Amino acid sequence: MKLVFLGPPGAGKGTQAEKICEYFGIAHISTGDMLRREMREGTELGNAAKAVIEAGGLVSDDIIIGMVKNRVNEPDCENGFLLDGFPRTIAQAEALEGITAVDMAVNIDVPAGVLVDRISGRRMCSGCGAGYHISKYTRDTCEKCGAPLYIRDDDKPETVLNRISVYNDKTQPLIDFYDNKGLLKNVDGNRTPEEVLADIKALVESI
Ligand code: ADP
Repeated sequence: MKLVFLGPPGAGKGTQAEKICEYFGIAHISTGDMLRREMREGTELGNAAKAVIEAGGLVSDDIIIGMVKNRVNEPDCENGFLLDGFPRTIAQAEALEGITAVDMAVNIDVPAGVLVDRISGRRMCSGCGAGYHISKYTRDTCEKCGAPLYIRDDDKPETVLNRISVYNDKTQPLIDFYDNKGLLKNVDGNRTPEEVLADIKALVESI
């Protein structure tokens, strides 16, 4: 089972991806999480990507495609995987076709007006990378590993607007790309996480 999640920043891709992967026993591949790990560890790739990420831009297609190509060959991907945050450009989607075929692209649709609020309440764990929202979780340490929570640099208001505009320019065209291939399913993401999850599960079960 090979899935792609599409949707603007703040649509809830990461939250839903984690649950779907657990439920169906497939690997969760988040290019954003992979890049943040590289930055935390101070690798060459992490250091090279940092400025672009913090400005809300996109890391170069070559770097990202290379990263994903290696990742999908790891043993935990044998049962399938869910790509969260990749592809983000037409060039990445075309490269993915050369790497593997995809069974379904799920587009989590959320109106633009809701996104900024959602993102500005987001908190991340500095230890394990788990995500939280202040409307539901008010502690300042992670309930999974105990490490302190922080606000992602690219979640600050001045960067969020840029990320949304980069999404509109570069990533939104992928909705048509997958629709034209008959692989697209739309889900209304402007509901409770439980309702959204139930819809996505039903779609994936229909594959
Ligand atoms: P979001 O909350 O917008 O889904 P992610 O955690 O997926 O954000 O990604 C954070 C940042 O990492 C992006 O704004 C971008 O700079 C970089 N990034 C992640 N995935 C990709 C990709 N496929 N191509 C280029 N840049 C990426």
